[in-house]
Amino acid sequence: MAEKKKAGSKKMEVKKEAPVKQEAKKQAAPAPKQAPAKAAPTTGSKEQPRIGVFICHCGTNIAGSLDITAVQDYAKTLPNVAYVDNYKYVCSMPGQEVIMKAIREQKLTGTVVAACSPRLHEPTFRTATKEGGLNPFRFEMANIREQNSWVHMHDREGATAKAKDAVRIAVAKASLLQDLFPKTVPVEHAALVVGAGVAGMQAALDLSAAGIKTYLVESKPTIGGKMSQLDKTFPTLDCSQCILTPKMVDVGRSPNIELMTYSEVEAVEGYIGNFDVTIRKKAHGVLTMAEADARGIVGGGCNGCGDCEAPCPVIKPNDFEMGMKPRKAIYISHPQVVPLLYTIDFDSCIKCGLCITACGEKKAIDLEQKDELVKIKVGTAVLAIGYDLFPIEKKTEWGYKKFENVVTSLEFERLICASGPTSGHLVRPSDGETPKRVAFVLCAGSRDNTGIGKPYCSRFCCMYSLKHAHQIYEKIPGVQSYLFYMDIRSFGKMYEEFYYRIQDEGAKFIRGRVANILEDPVTKNLHVYTDDTLLNRPVDMEVDLVVLAAAVQPSEDTNRTRKLFGVSCSMDGWLLEAHPKLNPCGTTTAGVFLAGACQGPKDIPDAVASAEGAASAASIPIHKGEVELEPYFAMCIEEKCAGCGMCVNLCPYSALALVEKDGRTVMEVTEAKCKGCGTCGGFCPGGAIWMNHFATPQIVAQIDAFLLGGEQ
Ligand code: SF4
Ligand code: SF4
Repeated sequence: MAEKKKAGSKKMEVKKEAPVKQEAKKQAAPAPKQAPAKAAPTTGSKEQPRIGVFICHCGTNIAGSLDITAVQDYAKTLPNVAYVDNYKYVCSMPGQEVIMKAIREQKLTGTVVAACSPRLHEPTFRTATKEGGLNPFRFEMANIREQNSWVHMHDREGATAKAKDAVRIAVAKASLLQDLFPKTVPVEHAALVVGAGVAGMQAALDLSAAGIKTYLVESKPTIGGKMSQLDKTFPTLDCSQCILTPKMVDVGRSPNIELMTYSEVEAVEGYIGNFDVTIRKKAHGVLTMAEADARGIVGGGCNGCGDCEAPCPVIKPNDFEMGMKPRKAIYISHPQVVPLLYTIDFDSCIKCGLCITACGEKKAIDLEQKDELVKIKVGTAVLAIGYDLFPIEKKTEWGYKKFENVVTSLEFERLICASGPTSGHLVRPSDGETPKRVAFVLCAGSRDNTGIGKPYCSRFCCMYSLKHAHQIYEKIPGVQSYLFYMDIRSFGKMYEEFYYRIQDEGAKFIRGRVANILEDPVTKNLHVYTDDTLLNRPVDMEVDLVVLAAAVQPSEDTNRTRKLFGVSCSMDGWLLEAHPKLNPCGTTTAGVFLAGACQGPKDIPDAVASAEGAASAASIPIHKGEVELEPYFAMCIEEKCAGCGMCVNLCPYSALALVEKDGRTVMEVTEAKCKGCGTCGGFCPGGAIWMNHFATPQIVAQIDAFLLGGEQ
């Protein structure tokens, strides 16, 4: 960039007077309608700008790659710059003191800090600007670290020139900044949690314990998620249901939790503090006792007796049992469901009415029940929509869904679980025999750069495969387990010790990615082929059963949900946190938080910890009772507005409306709804919409400063 500019030196000569200033004269920003009243303590809109520039060394992060003194000397030559300084760490308290003191002593009207990214320290420097006596929005940041010193660390001259560009551009904008005033809105004393796996349940319980009315929405008829399908948990070997069921019961009993199972969020409107959420409650076809009571059926409603189940003639595979056990069209997934309420699968039900007869006087069954749309208002929301297993049949070389004795890890969980389809007896699906040689294939679809699987590590498959190896030693005398692995990642508390324990129990570890698996058509035994990369020899291992530790991927509903809540996702499709280290539970949508594995693979302890973090973060605005909205609203210049209304339809947040004013139709912005995305401003054919803090003259000044700037 800097090189390009040097070549354009003719333009530099033209710039006798600062182009910024010329542009400012030509096209002054209109005073924002939203916040015109109060002037900042030390500035007025007609004043000659006096900008202070503060250049940060960031230790050697910046100073090690560019010439701070040269940037400082250059900044002194820029129009409107009244003061320049540098400091080792401007974000430190003494560094901020430098800003505050300069504002007071130099009578500055705006500040520029050339340092890291606004995402990291904009709030810090805004606060310093405010404490120095200026409106905090009189601050502009020049990123000379992430976008400069870190990427040009071997080009000191180029990095220095680029830093000068960044400072010049920031000064051009700072010279035109105006006072802005955040809007304060009240916060609804209620929260929404979407997803009732272990993370969602934990978040809901914590919010409820904090005295907050919490709506817990789950798409399945019961809560509990994947954890309720597990037999044991690693490394403690707790019975999964034993530790989960009390939590499920607590959720069902909590007076502050309104549990909405078999329900989905259909629409979300509004903003932090005031989300209007529409929820579709799918028809269970079975009335709760409260619903029966409301219909005047005294003592009626479903009590979970199961009388209806036996006569139902429709048989379907039970998803909870990974299809290895049947269920009826009227069903509960497993005996511990919460709430204990039967559900009719209307896609399969033939409406024969036999269940109605069996249900008798309880009159719980309503075959004509329809979905219901419920509207709720909440202040904040926690998304805990979990994960799905990668469809491992896509890796055709391993024979899943082709060879009967190749199963996934979740199928293995149900097979080994006492409440599962085989009452905890591990058997081969092909013949019901107890396997004596079991192969566990780790990284099945994870760390896979073929374009078919997932490039990331699924994080918990190493550990549950070790647990599976332990479980078969516990249940099958004389069994031999083989773990085919790339690396064993036992990073958690007591995980490494668990790994040693499984080695001591006799598990054999073979380091190598499994190339393919073939079936002996007569015995249905499987041959696992790989290269042992430690012993440097090919392996052909004959086993009775293969368990694939399938990769995990974002749950099916992730994309729809993220669009509803305006949350971004990573390249892999996981929901994206606001900052991976400093704000791991937040999102870029204020008031929306993430819990559990919806943001990436997490084991149970990490999922629960993140849920506690998300619940805590979600409760803060609710307990404060009000929140400040950044004043980056769109503003309508009514004289220019033709009232065409095209922006109204474009706004993704429904923040715009046409209104009648003084006999004209003009656009009006609902500030609290506007997210400042700029869609409307970019579109308006008449240029009637400007954005606070990103007003047209400010942007034009920046572009001019870039194009007409250069060495001065
Ligand atoms: S009406 Fe539907 S749910 Fe009831 S018994 Fe018949 S098929 Fe089963
Ligand atoms: S900037 Fe415009 S399009 Fe974007 S939210 Fe605000 S009003 Fe809507």
